Amino acid sequence: MNHKEALLKKAKELEVEFIHLQFTDILGVMKNVSITIEQLEKALDNEIMFDGSSIDGFVRIEESDMYLAPDLSTFIVLPWTDSPREARLICNVYKTDGTPFHGCPRNALKKVVKEALDMGYTINIGPECEFFLFHTDEKGEPSLQTHDNAGYFDLAPVDLGGNARKDMTMTLKQMGFEIEASHHEVAPGQHEIDFKYADALVTADRIMTFKMVVRIIAQRHGLHATFMPKPKFGINGSGMHINMSLETMDGKNAFYDDKDKLKLSKVAYHFLAGVLKQAKGFAAVTNPTVNSYKRLIPGYEAPVLIAWSASNRSPLVRIPAKRGNSTRIELRNPDPSANPYLALAAVLKSGIDGIKNEIDPPKPVDSNVYDMDELEMKEKGIEGLPANLYEAVKMLSTNEVVKEALGQHIFKKLTGAALYEWNEYSKDVSQWEINRYLRKY
Ligand code: GLU
Ligand code: MG
Ligand code: MG
Repeated sequence: MNHKEALLKKAKELEVEFIHLQFTDILGVMKNVSITIEQLEKALDNEIMFDGSSIDGFVRIEESDMYLAPDLSTFIVLPWTDSPREARLICNVYKTDGTPFHGCPRNALKKVVKEALDMGYTINIGPECEFFLFHTDEKGEPSLQTHDNAGYFDLAPVDLGGNARKDMTMTLKQMGFEIEASHHEVAPGQHEIDFKYADALVTADRIMTFKMVVRIIAQRHGLHATFMPKPKFGINGSGMHINMSLETMDGKNAFYDDKDKLKLSKVAYHFLAGVLKQAKGFAAVTNPTVNSYKRLIPGYEAPVLIAWSASNRSPLVRIPAKRGNSTRIELRNPDPSANPYLALAAVLKSGIDGIKNEIDPPKPVDSNVYDMDELEMKEKGIEGLPANLYEAVKMLSTNEVVKEALGQHIFKKLTGAALYEWNEYSKDVSQWEINRYLRKY
């Protein structure tokens, strides 16, 4: 029995009635085309078409027909559905001529993964997704009210969102996730659930699935889950730290070298250097909203400066203490509003470029970089991340490495959308301005 026949049999045995064919648009929003079980065979033959012009950032009306090609390994029954039972398949998007569509973020990541593979590496990624759980009002609309006043690692009874988090963890486990940690984060109402690292494409798929599960389960608990990077002024925002390592074909961690002072290999240093070098360029991808830059300020455990450290948590890159097979590099600026496929494509391409060009990283900075003034930064040659979305788009526009990772189509659509967003935001008269100026002038 081939894969396709095995899947058809499995779906029938599990009494699945509906299958959601999922893919992600350029802005990181999950899209669904739902089919009945009778259509599944057709779907597995890549014969399901949809109108690409109705999807943000996809195509113009005149070239709108697209095909969905399901990745068979992503078949999962959705545990919260019972009768009728539903399943999902994640798809790549293809053009009518059978070639991969350049506007499909999953295809962009696959290209970068392939580039690493050609160099002899599998890329392993472990994400740390943070999010807030807020109360909903009588109409079901989200508020900014949290369920608790708990802090980092606090337990019940203050941690009322904990029940929802437990339910999320159980659901994710049923869907094949290996949950490594689940805890309350620093801010009231803030949570984090960490799952085990896997290769980059699997992890990007899982991040999308994770967000879907967190939202659905929160709703079932009468809560609203948000991955907005900085929902509240004055407390921590939500990050999506990315732990990265390369694995050689014989299963060794390519970032580990016993003989080095920090026990990091040359490959690790070059990769790190590449990531630091392109950080300003990929910020528009890893931090794609106006709100993203309100998180990247001093004092809230989010990075501001382009530096690295083996100990301190304030710089952009931290090298967690574990070595041997767990040696990895933690990038701290990405936030969960990012499209995970594009964010990983951009960051990994930067690291790969560092290896290919044998770039060396600057010296590590082991002091708290939040305390560093402009003069000290200048002396040490340390630069800051873009201050806002507009600056980030400008930096991306001149960054050839990140542009290549995205491809021309995605680059254009992504920056177009970001500039539109920036213009809308700039025109708005905010409550802050009213408070500040209404009486004064
Ligand atoms: N919430 C912090 C951020 O904005 C990160 C906290 C942590 O180190 O886990 O990135
Ligand atoms: Mg955290
Ligand atoms: Mg972390």
